[in-house]
Amino acid sequence: MKILIIEDEKVLAESLKRILESKGFEAEAVHDGESGEQYALLNIYDLIILDIMLPKKNGYQVARSIRSKHNATPILMLTAKSDIEDKVDGLNAGADYYLTKPFDMRELLACVNALLRRQGSQVNELVFGNTRLDLESASLICGENNVRLSAREFEVMRMLMVSGAHHMSKETLLTKVWGYDSNAVENHVEVYVGFLRKKLMSIGSDIRIETVRRLGYHLECEKPC
Ligand code: CA
Repeated sequence: MKILIIEDEKVLAESLKRILESKGFEAEAVHDGESGEQYALLNIYDLIILDIMLPKKNGYQVARSIRSKHNATPILMLTAKSDIEDKVDGLNAGADYYLTKPFDMRELLACVNALLRRQGSQVNELVFGNTRLDLESASLICGENNVRLSAREFEVMRMLMVSGAHHMSKETLLTKVWGYDSNAVENHVEVYVGFLRKKLMSIGSDIRIETVRRLGYHLECEKPC
């Protein structure tokens, strides 16, 4: 899960980033509205935490712009203002929830989880064939057997299970799992798919990760699923 933080108070942005990362999220922070908008429009984030008073563009403008491009990423707005009218403005601009500063980190985490859950992206497990991917423990489970996945293996497996029998391109995996600004190349994807194939085999899974030339990967079952 990738979270974008758009917050100009650098100390707060960094502490949000650290807390989210400690809970297993990937988080990136930017410090003005204009870069925030550009990052948000990459459409690779599962949630956006957006401050209102920002340099260059304010949070309302950023939220409106994101929504006008039909980007439905949940937005959690942060503000020092607590007036009811500001909340209404934020919600009208396209925010999904409002948190007034100063807030408790537990409150923030509860909001983040609620917004991700509501979006349907926080189910507990994904299933394909005889195998389950447990999203809490990052384990693959087949009958009595299970194996833990590393963070990258887990992200690749999650994306493959979500697309299932449909093709998932190496490029999409690279962007979603490694991000735009990393030095990773498509080779990394192949290496991780190799790790996953071994782990699937080790637990007796009937999932096969099929390579399709030029299209990427898709999942198949040895026996009809
Ligand atoms: Ca601010």
